[in-house]
Amino acid sequence: MDRRRFLLALGAVPFCVHAQPKTMKDIQTLQTNWKSFLPAGASVPSPTEPLKLSKEEWKKRLPNDLAYRVLREEATERAGTSPLNDEKRPGIFACAGCGLPLFTSEMKYESGTGWPSFFTTIPGVFETKKDYYLVFPRTEYHCKRCGGHHGHVFDDGPPPTNQRWCNNGAALKFIPKDGKA
Ligand SMILES: [Zn+2]
Repeated sequence: MDRRRFLLALGAVPFCVHAQPKTMKDIQTLQTNWKSFLPAGASVPSPTEPLKLSKEEWKKRLPNDLAYRVLREEATERAGTSPLNDEKRPGIFACAGCGLPLFTSEMKYESGTGWPSFFTTIPGVFETKKDYYLVFPRTEYHCKRCGGHHGHVFDDGPPPTNQRWCNNGAALKFIPKDGKA
């Protein structure tokens, strides 16, 4: 095969990329099918099993001080510092506090902000409140199971949801679908 024909043949290979969801029906499908992103045989908690711990117990349970400050004290990690910004494998983003699955890899997008960002969530896993830390009101969201703070949701995300769930990477734990750490 000469070089030109080789390049043409390359062009004919379909690229293996996920179709971007275009309609709210596509979003519903993503939400309904989230369990297909779990590794085979994985068992995960549900939002209806609350996890309440003391300050000392959280300090022991959480992997590091940053996770403690974000989840339990609503701190914000420095932009661009989370390794999960670049995480692109298929899998589940779960709460680092309690293991509740929150997002699938298909719900993630590159927002350019330096924080892991998602245009929708696994249904029923967050509760929200308005906060005024920056004078203008923002919508804070936290894990329904353990109450851990995750981030803020804004309305400048991609269509069709127009949502940007701006999440601290330190509050998340990635579970790859293939089970490899
Ligand atoms: Zn949690």
